[in-house]
Amino acid sequence: MRRFWLYYIVTVEKGKPVPHAAAGVSPEFYSKPYKEWVTMNAVEQLALFGGPKAVVEQDESLFKWPIITEEDEAAAVQVLRDGAMSGTDITKAFEREFADWLGMSYALAFNNGTNALLGAFYGCGVGVGDEIICPSVTYWASALPAYSLGASVVFAEIDPVTLCLDPNDIEHRITDKTKAIVVVHYLGHPADMDPIMAIAKKHNLKVIEDVSHAQGGYYKGRRVGTIGDVGAMSLMAGKSFAIGEGGIFVTNDEEIYERAIALGHYERFNADIRTPYLQPHIGLPYGGYKFRMHQVSSAVGRVQLKYYDERIGEIDKAMNRFWDRLEGVPGIRPHRPEKGSGSTMGGWYAAHGHYVPEELGGLSVTRFCEAVRAEGVPTQAGCNIPLHLHPLQHEVDVYGHGKPTIIANASRDVRQPKGSLPVSEAIPERVFWIPWFKHYRPEQIDRYADAFRKAALQYEALLPGDTGNPETVGGWNFFRQK
Ligand SMILES: *Cc1c(COP(=O)(O)O)cnc(C)c1O
Repeated sequence: MRRFWLYYIVTVEKGKPVPHAAAGVSPEFYSKPYKEWVTMNAVEQLALFGGPKAVVEQDESLFKWPIITEEDEAAAVQVLRDGAMSGTDITKAFEREFADWLGMSYALAFNNGTNALLGAFYGCGVGVGDEIICPSVTYWASALPAYSLGASVVFAEIDPVTLCLDPNDIEHRITDKTKAIVVVHYLGHPADMDPIMAIAKKHNLKVIEDVSHAQGGYYKGRRVGTIGDVGAMSLMAGKSFAIGEGGIFVTNDEEIYERAIALGHYERFNADIRTPYLQPHIGLPYGGYKFRMHQVSSAVGRVQLKYYDERIGEIDKAMNRFWDRLEGVPGIRPHRPEKGSGSTMGGWYAAHGHYVPEELGGLSVTRFCEAVRAEGVPTQAGCNIPLHLHPLQHEVDVYGHGKPTIIANASRDVRQPKGSLPVSEAIPERVFWIPWFKHYRPEQIDRYADAFRKAALQYEALLPGDTGNPETVGGWNFFRQK
């Protein structure tokens, strides 16, 4: 792995086209033989140049999410009629059912995923002067809540195939201040938990799983979110488990659960608390926060949960159909675990494909996506821009410490300059969005796949008009907005 990074650094920095093996991934990843694609659409002219579109008409029903039935509506309306919006009875029932679904002792609901992560951090004991290790390529809420606890964030590399925290880039970042590792199952792909758990055990660190992209997914037969000390996640309307604004975490650790209650669930910070050192302080929230979930969200969540596994099962079948149809096409690779590995993509949130420009004469992913869009398929290049590059991680003094917040309480300067995480910095130019099918409709799905194939197979026609990628591909705050 380390050897691959070296290639990566050298080749990316020189801006040269890189040979496949230099892209930082295992050779097997690129060794699949190309099939002969002599289908009609392979020889049809690209829509960008006046040819027929692969997808003539968008069928919105193929993508509509979440699926809301009269049952969800009735549950939501009942909360409103009962005036129970700020109660906790329905939320507690949702928590119980959610914990049972994942086979966990506790679930704690929050008003959003960001606060579920903050609660998880505090639950794990992250505090002033501590460091957490988090992948740089993720949505900001995987890391930034640590600052309000007085902790620092040390960013680590992602694995270029899974796009999740690279187990080989953790250990050298651990110091005696390191308290926890945040693992993100990024874009639905399960992170490689076994080696990460082994490192955490060896160094006595907590593991916080951010499951916001992968609710219901499996890692080697185990549900993601149940492997680390706590699995926290967003349930906001854009995610695959979508209930409106909301978040939740699951844990088997009573202390983590009760510390999170103490931080921001004031009315539940009561005589039921069993952790001895918390008991004398019940009644007021430690954090001065209020994290209670809106009960319309929990009511909808209870209904969604009943159908969730079945619905993501259909998504999984549809998305795999898309990728199977594209097998062997040069320049693009699925972002999904090996079949038969016991690992799955959950609900395929924000699903992406890998882009291998070296196989397409160096064609930029930006130009590739332009051609696919012309075929009638909305796609875009990139993913989250690495967090370590944002000025917040370098210069902003949020709380008036007289120094940047990221090092306000740190015993060393953990700031990471441009160039320090080469895989993370290069990856937005090596991925693209794919359609998120909610239904298994092979005829329709195949048309979408054809759009990507057409563009990839006719890359030579696209090269002359390629002006390259813009300076940054992707966004800090990147997910598909309606
Ligand atoms: C959406 C998201 C969050 C934050 O959840 P909210 O409910 O939006 O607060 C955290 N982590 C990741 C990886 C996310 O995608």
